[in-house]
Amino acid sequence: MKNKLKDILKNKLTNKELAMVPSSYDIVGGIIIFSDFPKELSKKEKTIGNEIIKNYNQIKSVYKKTRKYSGEYRTPKLKLLTGENNKETIYTENNTRLKLNVEKVYFSPRLSEERKRISNQVKNNESVLVMFSGCGVYPLTISKNTKVKNIMGIEINPTAHKYALENLKLNKTKNIELIKGDVKNILPKINKKFDRIIMPLPKGAENFLDLAVSKIKKNGIIHLYSFSEENKYDEITKIIKNKCKKKKKQCKILNIVKCGQFSPRVFRICVDIKIKQ
Ligand code: SAM
Repeated sequence: MKNKLKDILKNKLTNKELAMVPSSYDIVGGIIIFSDFPKELSKKEKTIGNEIIKNYNQIKSVYKKTRKYSGEYRTPKLKLLTGENNKETIYTENNTRLKLNVEKVYFSPRLSEERKRISNQVKNNESVLVMFSGCGVYPLTISKNTKVKNIMGIEINPTAHKYALENLKLNKTKNIELIKGDVKNILPKINKKFDRIIMPLPKGAENFLDLAVSKIKKNGIIHLYSFSEENKYDEITKIIKNKCKKKKKQCKILNIVKCGQFSPRVFRICVDIKIKQ
């Protein structure tokens, strides 16, 4: 759809307006969301939205972000440009179906490849913990695409947790346990260690690392997400190494993967860490 958007608007906008049509947007099920919709196009919002709905059968609602992901739940604020005012949709990726409200729950379709990358690393019979599990996308991707033994997900946003429970049924999975609450309160009470722990909270995951380190098996892997400039990876790796040292654990940074862009110079990264002892 990326190339075609400007084509379908050709006869509705001036060349100057056309040049301002954002090339960055997300499609989540029947919903399209523009991240940075320019003020200069505010009078053309409806025209643009109507053309999208007219030309793309799948799209029922066109929204723009009026606030980026923020707060503890990492949720955006959206304004309807045109179409149905319905923020609940069903989205499909990596053999999973996910029902969610795009304003009440954090979700990014841009991370689909990254979720596949993680899932591809999961070995038969592993026991996996997903801290910050949201609407269940990581647990479900792993459950549906690997021979994992069991997966636990912990999520503080009650609406995200509610959708995650619904998504277990939607995907008919039997090996996922979801817990609603703060990882800091829940995890210390879990009397179990995991082969792999996923920490998809780029803004602050490192604050939960000592907890993760105390719950990982010997030679287990932690996937910690963070935001970083490309030439400043040593800042996060230093934090990781210090935290492991304090817990008297040896760690090895296996990989640092760029998996998204936060701002022109800042990237979302995943640090894959092996905890040796
Ligand atoms: N894993 C989901 C995904 O990839 O779509 C959600 C990722 S989102 C960036 C981070 C999630 O962590 C949010 O759903 C937020 O509500 C949750 N969260 C934040 N702090 C938390 C905490 N202390 N305990 C449990 N969940 C938390």
